[in-house]
Amino acid sequence: MARHKVLIVGGGIGGMAAAIMLGKTGHDIDLVDIDPDWRVYGAGITITGATLRAYKHLDMVDDIASHGAITNGAKIFNYDGTYLKDLDEPVLEEGLPATGGIMRPVLHELMQKRIRALDIPVHLGVTVDSLIQDEDGVDVVFSNGQKGRYDVVVGSDSINSKVRELAFDNSQDPIPTGQGCWRISMKCPPDIKRSEFYFGHKYTAGITRCGVDEMYMWLLTPDDGSLWVKDEEAMEMLSERLKDFGGTPKWIRENMTKDDWINYRPLAAVLQPGPWANGRIVLLGDSAHATTPHLASGAGMAVEGGVVLSQELNVEGVSIQDALMAYNERRYSRCRDVVESSIAIGQKQLEGGDPDEVGDLIGAAIHRLAKPF
Ligand SMILES: Cc1cc2nc3c(=O)[nH]c(=O)nc-3n(C[C@H](O)[C@H](O)[C@H](O)COP(=O)(O)OP(=O)(O)OC[C@H]3O[C@@H](n4cnc5c(N)ncnc54)[C@H](O)[C@@H]3O)c2cc1C
Repeated sequence: MARHKVLIVGGGIGGMAAAIMLGKTGHDIDLVDIDPDWRVYGAGITITGATLRAYKHLDMVDDIASHGAITNGAKIFNYDGTYLKDLDEPVLEEGLPATGGIMRPVLHELMQKRIRALDIPVHLGVTVDSLIQDEDGVDVVFSNGQKGRYDVVVGSDSINSKVRELAFDNSQDPIPTGQGCWRISMKCPPDIKRSEFYFGHKYTAGITRCGVDEMYMWLLTPDDGSLWVKDEEAMEMLSERLKDFGGTPKWIRENMTKDDWINYRPLAAVLQPGPWANGRIVLLGDSAHATTPHLASGAGMAVEGGVVLSQELNVEGVSIQDALMAYNERRYSRCRDVVESSIAIGQKQLEGGDPDEVGDLIGAAIHRLAKPF
């Protein structure tokens, strides 16, 4: 099998997944990240069954189970705390849990540990200033003045991708979706075993267990672009928005403290027009398909992207350019489904769609994502 020299720009979930997959199949990787500390903020993240299936390729399901939580399904409630039904979630593979959660910093650390174990060089506080490709390779100038030549460049540098700006001339800006997302990470209420959704209100909440005693909640609220949240006001503002809720959101309102991590951000999404490959340069994760949290699948799509990219680059006798186009073929419609369905679910929530309708849209999308990738 040909051993390629691969530059990965952006060491988030997608870039790290690509690095682990390509590193463990013998390619020569350099990973750069613009963040000098290679950090991630303190939220939790939902790991759906499909995402767990992708992590299985990275041999990381046990890591996630032991450092996060396996919750095996979700319950749907009316916003006042009345139980409505279980979310219809398929079992993807015998023995593979239906869903789980983990704190983002813990997941990053687990993935970073894999990268270090594979001896992949990581250059922090660095991005790319120039990418010039010919038939045989890509000449790269880095922001620290260093230069390199690579067989493949992967742009996993998120929604405002620099790689996309440098190498793709049809780049689209993110579009606000009309909702914003509050998140809080805190200790778990004693009796929460499964993930929970709260519908039927103009605000929509979701709760995911992320460890033995940790969970996070997201709360989606309409956003017209004018809301600015100061750190010191965040808890009070979140509390005000939870006042109509029963069930676990009520418990959260009564038990949250100023020491808990609370964050608000307006949501934006964009599906970049294909192809996501240009010669030897390829987009992966949010740089190609930035989505909202409605299906909790953006990170899952990024991990799947890393798996598929390595599978295609490992096919014998195929040129790099053709391998990257094959990756694009396998990824485009699946990721388009996630972005478009997530936007549609958000729109339905903004229109005051009833809980059954919203739950069914999520369940149907999860069933489509259960298909092999
Ligand atoms: C509110 C919210 C909640 C979400 N919840 C979930 C969830 O529960 N489950 C789920 O599966 N998905 C969720 N998502 C989506 C998920 O977070 C993203 O889809 C996923 O993180 C994308 O991974 P990525 O590697 O493409 O980008 P990122 O994780 O954003 O990583 C990009 C990396 O690139 C680096 N970088 C950025 N610019 C440059 C540059 N110019 N040069 C070099 N490096 C650069 C950054 O420092 C970062 O390390 C959520 C999204 C939002 C907005």
